[in-house]
Amino acid sequence: MNNIPFIDLKAQQAVIRTKLDTAIAKVLDSGMYIMGSEISELEARLADFSGAKYVLSCSSGTSALYLCLMAIGVNKNDAVFVPSFTFIATAESVLLAGATPVVVDVKEDTFLMDADDLQKAIADAKAKGLNPKVVIPVDLFGLPADYDRIGKIAKENNMVVISDNCQGYGSVMRGKKAGTFGDLSATSFFPAKPLGCYGDGGAVFTDNEKYVELLKSYRVHGMGADRYENVRIGINGRLDTIQAAILLVKMDILADEINKRQVVAKRYREGIKNAVHQRIPDGLTSAWAQYSILVDNRDNVQAQLKKQGIPTMVYYPIPVHKQKAYVSYAQDRAFPVSDMLSQRILSLPMHPYLDEKTQDFIITEVNKLL
Ligand SMILES: *Cc1c(COP(=O)(O)O)cnc(C)c1O
Repeated sequence: MNNIPFIDLKAQQAVIRTKLDTAIAKVLDSGMYIMGSEISELEARLADFSGAKYVLSCSSGTSALYLCLMAIGVNKNDAVFVPSFTFIATAESVLLAGATPVVVDVKEDTFLMDADDLQKAIADAKAKGLNPKVVIPVDLFGLPADYDRIGKIAKENNMVVISDNCQGYGSVMRGKKAGTFGDLSATSFFPAKPLGCYGDGGAVFTDNEKYVELLKSYRVHGMGADRYENVRIGINGRLDTIQAAILLVKMDILADEINKRQVVAKRYREGIKNAVHQRIPDGLTSAWAQYSILVDNRDNVQAQLKKQGIPTMVYYPIPVHKQKAYVSYAQDRAFPVSDMLSQRILSLPMHPYLDEKTQDFIITEVNKLL
């Protein structure tokens, strides 16, 4: 087969193109390119979908994380715990906000933050004179993190939980929807995420009113009563109206797409026998931003699949503690699972429009190599 897409945004666009054209034209006609009515419409829609009380759209997943940390208020003496096996923005936001990231290893079966290692990292941070303040579990590949245990540990240590749900909008945890997993939750609307726009975008979710005014202020240059009164140092963190209009159209099909992703994931799980699959604990529904398996000899597997026209990706080849700008924050801790995953992880084509015939071909070719 030729040209199998890794993520098929074209197929999705074919389904909604007419509605998109209308929605975009409406924004063009309105002239309200910044903070047009689609922004509050989208925020209400996201709140309704997730069950979170307050939703604030913003310019990216990275700015969503950064806004959360600014609203909490952190400084260099505050330790913010992040997993080592994640996209760099999780740790980056901590440094941008002026706090100290403390890296935590992940679990071998779920690839998610290891609550036991979090406990050790908290003790290590305290021993170094740091104040444990925030933990940012990541819903890697769309799977909700271990919020039960991490939430309990956070409570015992008086820490705030920010859910990095950038890959997981649409996921469910025992009836609770993404956006409600932490004290604050950050998501991304980067095009390849489960709910993506056609540019950069993100949102912050919370039930806690005390953060709302701060988030709104930091989002627009630390504004006070109006945008030309500036009472704190903020950012330009707004979402574009045109992206909100696009997201409103995509929200109509999100639930259906999440269901379709479950079907694709199940077929991979049942079809590929000789690889390690990400374990999905009972009661959790992944948004399946990625379908990832562990293989030996990854470079060879990837090259052979490429020859067959099957694209694959490696998320992530370098864990946070080995990134050049971050090595000093690894301190003297070890991250054996993150190291192992970065060597063996391989993500396969995953999107709601992956047809059975194409997927069977992928499964057959992968099985030949394992
Ligand atoms: C994509 C992503 C982000 C950042 O989102 P952007 O919208 O690209 O800024 C943060 N954390 C994780 C885990 C992500 O996957």
